[in-house]
Amino acid sequence: MKKVRFEKKKYTYLDSLKISIISSPVCTILYLILSLAVAILPTYQVIINARFIDNALGLIDGSATKRAVYISLAIVIGIIAYQWVVGPIKAYLANKIEMDMRVSLKGAYVEKCSKIEFKYIENTDSMDLMNRVADTMEHKFIDGFTNVVNLISLFMTIAGLLIVLITQIAWVALIIIAVAVPLLYLSFISGKATYEANKEITKYQRKYKYLTTVMTGRENVDERTVFGYNEKLNDKWFEQYEISRKMETRTRAKWFVKLKSGSMITAFLCTFIAAMLINPVATGIITIGMFFSLINATFDLVHTMSWSLTRLIEAVSTHIEYLKEITKFAAFEQYDNADAVPEGGIEFKSLEFRNVTFKYPGTETYILKDMNMKIEAGRHYAFVGANGAGKSTIAKLLTGLYQDYEGRILINGRDLREYTAAQLKAFYSVVYQDFARYSISIWDNIAIGCVGGADDEAISNAITALKLDSVIEGLEDGKDTLLGKLAQEGKDLSGGEWQRIALARCFVSEAPIRVLDEPTAALDPIAESNLYSEFAKLCEGRTTLFFSHRLGSVKLADYIYVIDNGHVEEQGTHSELMAAKQLYYTMYDSQRRWYQ
Ligand code: ADP
Repeated sequence: MKKVRFEKKKYTYLDSLKISIISSPVCTILYLILSLAVAILPTYQVIINARFIDNALGLIDGSATKRAVYISLAIVIGIIAYQWVVGPIKAYLANKIEMDMRVSLKGAYVEKCSKIEFKYIENTDSMDLMNRVADTMEHKFIDGFTNVVNLISLFMTIAGLLIVLITQIAWVALIIIAVAVPLLYLSFISGKATYEANKEITKYQRKYKYLTTVMTGRENVDERTVFGYNEKLNDKWFEQYEISRKMETRTRAKWFVKLKSGSMITAFLCTFIAAMLINPVATGIITIGMFFSLINATFDLVHTMSWSLTRLIEAVSTHIEYLKEITKFAAFEQYDNADAVPEGGIEFKSLEFRNVTFKYPGTETYILKDMNMKIEAGRHYAFVGANGAGKSTIAKLLTGLYQDYEGRILINGRDLREYTAAQLKAFYSVVYQDFARYSISIWDNIAIGCVGGADDEAISNAITALKLDSVIEGLEDGKDTLLGKLAQEGKDLSGGEWQRIALARCFVSEAPIRVLDEPTAALDPIAESNLYSEFAKLCEGRTTLFFSHRLGSVKLADYIYVIDNGHVEEQGTHSELMAAKQLYYTMYDSQRRWYQ
């Protein structure tokens, strides 16, 4: 079966239809048939109603038979019954299509998110756009689809009714068209405005919804109790909620005014037209049956045009604005083969930065300037520097997360940009400062470190190496106990235990380079130092890169790079750097008491 995918192109209404067909082909086609079949009924109804009334009147003067009245009555009732039945069936189908779309759109969204370049993830504007696009996505698409189908069906109905009117009394049709066209244009414009207003409202909604999670969620319960910040956050919540509420009230008020003025126009037009039809009926241009039927149809038509049609057009134009955002999201650049699985058995010899200069996309400050360094296989390296010196930026660059740098990054003498995503992934196993704590079992938390699937022995070794045996013994279901706060029975671990799990995940990976980007920043300096040296011992013979602003933890490294002012300020072994009595020495001296 074809899959829904977000591809770089301009998204139009046709895509909403396509997505619907791909997600739920049978229901979509049934929905289309039912909608279009019901569209011509009102036109037929005018003629049938007129015939029924004329036949009924004909009974009085004997010009019609009872049989003719019964037949036309049966047809009238048949049409009404059909319309009643079609409504709920269409609602059921729309519901089913929405459920099917949820599955396919969620898959497409997750796939796109997993491939897009890292710069979008770190940028608030693009993250905002992604959140907006993802919010009730299937609902927006099904709305877009049903609205446009209903719009087409409505146009068919209107066209049919106008044709009947034109054949009977042309000028009535002309008046309706003359009034309706500007009304429709206005609703199109107002649809755009509504979307913009809603966009603004969601910004504030997101803020207050986030604060609600902070104030009521399980995640922050400990800090909330200790700091007692609820009152302060409550004020903030109220502030954001009020802004969003006022905006929403304003948008609704506009809606209300539009609704009321629409009904007034309807009432006025209908009365006017009814009055104008009296003369043609008196002079016998139209029959009494046609008179009543036409008045009925005109009421329906004007009401439909001033209310249902304007509402639909507004909804359609809102969906067009949504599709513009989908187009922007789909155009986010992505890594080629980002979902490729790392290639096993990749060999690493060296990694080199040659005059690497870098600033984050959309910013003006250079974080790295002419940075040079070299890493050789099998050795332990440390990158040290103050907070904000650019250590994590180096980690992001060497793993290929940002590739718009100047200068060259060479892996095994070959440009980093020449490697496929799968190859780059295969080189590294990384533990970040804000490493993930997955609410799955401790065993699975470690196993996912190896994409190809770590064997049980490797996982058991990692557990022993990182001293997690005693942790597992203390858990009710041992290695299968669910961790974290998500599950009812979930067991939460200490910060240090989570760090060991993250390190074990890195340890089971077959990648030749292990990168630790301050995952132990939350530990005290001595504990961090111990954990780093423990891990270094475990990684004997492997290439490891430690990033830290605390020097005590890195002195065992084979080679140390001191980062300052966006480049390598000093380099050497711990004893060489201490002997040089420069920046490293000063930093070390000022941190000395941390380790006493
Ligand atoms: P370190 O790891 O040494 O503490 P970082 O590499 O995290 O330092 O940050 C270096 C500088 O880059 C900081 O000034 C930080 O504000 C900036 N920075 C980090 N990430 C981004 C980003 N995604 N966009 C813009 N600036 C960033």
